[in-house]
Amino acid sequence: MPNGEKILRSWMVYSLTSKNLYCFCCHIFAMANNTNAGTFTTGFQKWWKLNPKVADHEYSNEHLENLEKWKTLEMRLKLNKTIDDAGLQLMDTEKQKWKHLLTRLLDITLFLAKQNLAFRGHDEGQD
Ligand SMILES: [Zn+2]
Repeated sequence: MPNGEKILRSWMVYSLTSKNLYCFCCHIFAMANNTNAGTFTTGFQKWWKLNPKVADHEYSNEHLENLEKWKTLEMRLKLNKTIDDAGLQLMDTEKQKWKHLLTRLLDITLFLAKQNLAFRGHDEGQD
């Protein structure tokens, strides 16, 4: 700030590979919606022009909407209230089912090996 005060902007990220400064929430959500929130979405390179543009961007309607979407998603991820949560629970149930089945098959195999028995059953039919 012009008065020397420092403000932490958690939404501002720097890419080491592209050497650009991005607005994290606008980069994620504006790109997903195919809207362009300006240079903070595509990458900001001219550091000497940051001063008025950061404040303008910070209070723009599009940035505030994207910031709200980001914070809402962050909260939902913490609470496991996302759309794919039901799918993840179903996948965990299936994983447990197959884990139990594999455990039973291994127990059977170990039992048969200890008793020196074959896997196939006793056939009393005519040959
Ligand atoms: Zn933004």
